Amino acid sequence: MSEKIENVVIVGSGPAGWTAAIYAARANLNPLLYEGAALQEHYDLGRGPLGQLAMTTEVENFPGFPSGDLSGYLDNAIDDSLRQYMAPHQKHGVSGPELMELMRQQAKNFGTRVVTDDIIEVDFSGKPFKLKPREGDQWLEARSVIIATGARANYLGLESENKYKNRGVSACAVCDGALPRFRNKPCVVVGGGDSAIEEADYLSKYSSVVYLVHRRDKFRASQAMVDRIMANDKVEVVWNHVVKDVLGDDQNGVTGAKLASTVDDSTKEVETSGFFLAIGHTPNTDFLKGKLEMNNAGYLKWTVPFRTNTSVDGVFAAGDVADDNYRQAITAAGSGCMAALDAERWLASQGLH
Ligand code: NAP
Repeated sequence: MSEKIENVVIVGSGPAGWTAAIYAARANLNPLLYEGAALQEHYDLGRGPLGQLAMTTEVENFPGFPSGDLSGYLDNAIDDSLRQYMAPHQKHGVSGPELMELMRQQAKNFGTRVVTDDIIEVDFSGKPFKLKPREGDQWLEARSVIIATGARANYLGLESENKYKNRGVSACAVCDGALPRFRNKPCVVVGGGDSAIEEADYLSKYSSVVYLVHRRDKFRASQAMVDRIMANDKVEVVWNHVVKDVLGDDQNGVTGAKLASTVDDSTKEVETSGFFLAIGHTPNTDFLKGKLEMNNAGYLKWTVPFRTNTSVDGVFAAGDVADDNYRQAITAAGSGCMAALDAERWLASQGLH
């Protein structure tokens, strides 16, 4: 067992984790944050340190970062030891990886201690809480815990899909749909739930046509969403089809998709500049199964309305790990702030800080 009992351990390093750390550090809680292990298998699954934003390009919808050249600011704000390994700045607004490094730096500036490792097991059955890192044999002890491990987008698992990630393949139309590469060009959205319809509707504002590819002949989405999309004449629903391959080349990224019918042996190709997946997300909660209440899809449950409390008193959840609805960087950051304030107030109420 560790010698010290931590006030608050934050698990996860997306916008929710870093925002929780900034608030907890400024409240003199001396937070310890586990940012995840930098393992290739994590990156392949889309759950490496710094979260989903670390795998995107431009971020145009995070307030405070209008398009512009941030070179000088990035050089100035981020420690040289890290800055030298970052991709060159593109000079038209902040990128996902840059935004995450800025948040990380801000949390560190206020004294957050950061460990590049996973928490692989927890014991919330008694107090202090116990957490087991991947590295070493020691368990950590903590008076309060904030879970901010996020969720990862589901992909079809095609090799071609992986090859063109960020070069036309995306799992977030709201994040990427307005980028120049998709403007006035055809786009493909895969899925039949509310997200797929929302993404198709959003993309239709920018694209010349949106092919909404669904594997059945009936949407899973709510009727109101279905009615909206059926009335959108820029969206063409391709019923009863699955994607066999994403087509493209090194110069242009995605150029098309090969589709196969689910009712006969036919195949067809559509021309497209964008390939958007909307086939659901998977929350990163495997290590919490049986420890915290979750919904059927594995998302952590907030047990008090508009508070970040989980089913265990003193354990809080923030960001996409507890949000299967909004899933935005700004909402994750907001709930990270809420979790830190909730933890601080809970510690005070228990006479623990
Ligand atoms: P979802 O409801 O689970 O829908 C996933 C869709 O992807 C389904 O249509 C499914 O097909 C399809 N799919 C799954 N795996 C696939 C595969 N391997 N190949 C092809 N298609 C595949 O997920 P979601 O749309 O992300 O929604 C998640 C939750 O958020 C829902 O509760 C939803 O209501 C909510 N949400 C609400 C709003 C809103 O109200 N504005 C917006 C977004 C999300 P099948 O139908 O054949 O299973």
